[in-house]
Order: sequence, then C-alpha cells, then structure tokens
Amino acid sequence: MGEFDLIARYFKRPARRAALGVGDDCALLAPTPGTQLAISSDMLVQGRHFFADVDPRTLGHKALAVNLSDLAACGAKPLAFTLALALPSADEAWLAAFSGGLLALADAHECELIGGDTTGGPLNICITVFGEVPVHHGQSQALLRSGARPGDDLYVSGTVGDARLALDVLLGKYAVPAEVLAAARARLETPTPRVALGLALRGVATSAIDVSDGLLGDLGHILECSGVGATMQADDAIKSIATHAFTTRASGQFDVKFSTEQWRALALAGGDDYELLFTAPTQQRAAVAAAAQASQTPVRRIGQIEPEPGLRLLDAQGRPLPNHYASFDHFA
Ligand code: ADP
Ligand code: MG
Repeated sequence: MGEFDLIARYFKRPARRAALGVGDDCALLAPTPGTQLAISSDMLVQGRHFFADVDPRTLGHKALAVNLSDLAACGAKPLAFTLALALPSADEAWLAAFSGGLLALADAHECELIGGDTTGGPLNICITVFGEVPVHHGQSQALLRSGARPGDDLYVSGTVGDARLALDVLLGKYAVPAEVLAAARARLETPTPRVALGLALRGVATSAIDVSDGLLGDLGHILECSGVGATMQADDAIKSIATHAFTTRASGQFDVKFSTEQWRALALAGGDDYELLFTAPTQQRAAVAAAAQASQTPVRRIGQIEPEPGLRLLDAQGRPLPNHYASFDHFA
C-alpha cells in the first residue's frame, strides 16, 4: 500500500464543515463570522508518551483527546484538525484501529480531519487542532491562564491521580487489584476532554488550564500568568476513581494500602489527567454549579486565589503542608 492509498483509505473522508478537506495542497476552513480561531498542537512520541505495545485504537483516541483538551481549557468549540504521522510501516490492522479510535472521538466532537502529512519513520503523532471562540463587543471570550483575580475560587473537574497510578503500575512500581488498574488505565489511555465544561464556563470562569503535567505544576502556570497566589486544600484535590475503589471496599482485601501522602503525590504531581483547573469569582458559584450540571462534569472547589504570590498547601485539618510535589517536565 502506497502513501496515497493509505491516506485515502484511513484518513480521507468527505468534508462536512470545512470548505475543503483532505486531498489538495491546503484545506480550506471558513470560521464563523464574529469568532476567533483557537489553535493548538500536541505531539505524541513512542517511548515518551506511550508504550510501543499500546492498543492503537486507544492511541488514536488519546492523540486527539489531548488536543481537544487544550481547546476545552480555552473555552473553544472544536472545528477541525490536521494529523502529521510518522509510521515505521504501513500496518493495515494498526492503521484501521488507530484511525478508528481517532475518528470516533473526532465525530463525537464534530471535529473533522482536514489534512496532514504522512511519512516513514519512528512512530510519532502530531495533531494540530482548530476551534473557535466568539468575540463579543471586540472582546474575546476565550478562557486564558492570565485572568485569575484575588478572591476567586479555585476549582478542578473530575478526578486527578488515576492516570499516574496506572502509569506507575504499568511500569512495575507497585501492584493494585485488577479492577483498580482497569479504571485507572482507562483514564490514562482514553482520557475524556472536558470540552462541554470549557464551553459552559465561558463568561463564568476567569481563568482555566487543562491538567496535563500535574495539578500543582499547571496551577503554577495560572498563578504566574495571573500575577497572583493561592491557598489550596490539598486533601480536597485528592479524589480519584482508584481512591474510591480503595476506600469503598474493605481495605484488608487489597495488598497495597496507600498512605495519604502517596495519594497526595499522585493527585498533586501526577500528570495526564486532562481535567480542567479553573478560577471563578465567588459570586459565580451558582453559575459554576450550573455549568457543571449542564456539561455533566463533576467539579470541586479546592482553594482560593490570593494577592500574595506563591502557593500555600493545607491538609484536611487546615495545617500547612510542604509543597514538594514536582510535576512533569521533559527536560528537568
Ligand atoms: P503535499 O505534498 O502537497 O504536502 P501530501 O502529498 O503530503 O501533500 O498529502 C496529500 C493530501 O493528503 C493533502 O491534502 C494532505 O493534507 C493529506 N494528508 C496527508 N497525510 C495525511 C494524514 N495523515 N491525515 C490526513 N490527511 C493527510
Ligand atoms: Mg507531504
């Protein structure tokens, strides 16, 4: 199978929203009048972001999910994406599964594949996603990292820590019961981009970021970009599917019992959660609850933004905790 057959078979579909899709030198996109384009790229490299033997269907899902998560964090509505792919070989079973996972998530978000590039080489997947955000009276409605203000509440969606738990178990660092690993592994391999929540938070949240490198590291970006600090109730942030599984069954049934400190490390420093971390004024609490409900996404209040720079972590009793939870950095 040649390069062009491969593209035609696995990646070319009739254009729907785009004015022109796969097949020419450029794709053509017609953004809705009165909107700005929101654009983001994410690259997934074998050995770095995924294991060589990962299920190609989940890999297709995750490659797009991490990009949609960036749109979600900006409150942008997904529109289209391009796919640059380096493949070691034209393995048809692999391609069918990969494109199946990728295009299923694309369809679920009405985000169409409009072009890309295909080359031989070590497996590498780079997606650029395009979304749109309205402009009202000359003012972009995009959610940015820079909008947090003293007095705002700090929130996180869903659960954090499970993806890291799955990664640690897959790396053989420790063992957990099969059902705990299954739940955590789904969070690692098929994350849910919080697109509906991001859209519902436009005009409500003052700042937002998606949690990709770790909760505290990503919170640090909001604090720095906004020129503020925060106090966070660390133990309110610890809530994961796995914690739930551990605590709702008799603890003696499991061979691994995590200490609070281990849960903190997973939840605060573990990456790959793709939840939204955001701030909103206290007067918007009802609006945040309505956004969570409308998007069917659980949201928890975990802290407050303050004028003093830096992050102050508190335990469940309100005592200060040392902040030694480093988040992921490719070059650290
Ligand atoms: P060019 O050489 O002009 O860059 P290519 O021959 O690389 O074009 O690609 C032919 C067409 O197929 C283009 O429209 C390109 O956007 C599209 N394409 C190439 N690879 C992919 C891919 N992996 N997914 C989707 N579209 C692709
Ligand atoms: Mg080319």
